[in-house]
Amino acid sequence: MDCRKCRWLKTASCPIIYNVDEQSSPDVVYCHRFEEGKMFIIEKTFKIPMGHRLSKHKGLCQNFHGHNFVIKVEVCSKTLDGNDMVIDFSELKRIVNRILENFDHCMLLNDKDPMKSEFCKGYRVQIFPGDPTAEMLCQYFFDRISSEVKVLLGTEVKLVSVSIWENDDSMAKYVPD
Ligand SMILES: [Zn+2]
Repeated sequence: MDCRKCRWLKTASCPIIYNVDEQSSPDVVYCHRFEEGKMFIIEKTFKIPMGHRLSKHKGLCQNFHGHNFVIKVEVCSKTLDGNDMVIDFSELKRIVNRILENFDHCMLLNDKDPMKSEFCKGYRVQIFPGDPTAEMLCQYFFDRISSEVKVLLGTEVKLVSVSIWENDDSMAKYVPD
């Protein structure tokens, strides 16, 4: 029998099954890994060098420049899987790296940047619908990672936030409502 909350396979005689809802449905069984009100969160950090130019900025950021961006990804679940994990860190790494590998050493540009055509000639470029600020990158990576997590991990595991550091003391974070 499968725990309906955490997908942990248990037999009906398992002593750690603590809740059998016999009134509404005798088939609904929750194992010890699920308790209302609890949330497990894991976080993994990625580092990736990228260049960008903020075409609307009136200061130094309108110049082409780069950062060793640090990206933090938070994933949560009310339950743990068969390995007593939210998700294996290596699995999360694989999901995120598959997206990030297309951004390694890329120049990030606004679709409306008048310099775009110069950079699109044979260089690694990623185009955004606005200036590629840390805020825009957070939202973009959140949407990409979140949809991958949904496809691969179902409804229990959710992406909580994506944070991006341009340097040690400047960070943007995207947390959807
Ligand atoms: Zn910058």
